[in-house]
Amino acid sequence: MYQEIILDHYRNPVGRLILEPFDVEVHHVNPTCGDEITLRVKIDDGVVTAIGHQGQGCSISQAATSVMTELLEGRTVQQALDVEAGFLALMQSRGEGQPDEDLLEDAVAFSGVSKYPARVKCALLGWMAFKDAALQAVAQSVKDQS
Ligand code: ZN
Repeated sequence: MYQEIILDHYRNPVGRLILEPFDVEVHHVNPTCGDEITLRVKIDDGVVTAIGHQGQGCSISQAATSVMTELLEGRTVQQALDVEAGFLALMQSRGEGQPDEDLLEDAVAFSGVSKYPARVKCALLGWMAFKDAALQAVAQSVKDQS
């Protein structure tokens, strides 16, 4: 069943588009696998209203970014970062983690990936890009207000 979720998202990725307008764009690479992503976020009043991504790479990296987009759009930045922290902890658990399904929903499909250190970076690529973009967007809005 987990494999199914990953394949579905690989075949029909959510948010695979050039987002316009947007607040922040980041580009992240995972040199060990050759995965690349350009990710844009739109954040309004502390809510992640849209995530768009373009890139290339293995099925794990593509599917993980798609699941993330579905999961995080519409949440506050704080909630999104909480989910991201939960996913990061799961990925760093070396296969020992007890995934929190309420928090991570479809992203628990990647729990098996945590057993393979080489693939963990693939699964995390989009999530790290999002975190980077979200924190930049927050920093920007603080600056705008002062
Ligand atoms: Zn990869």
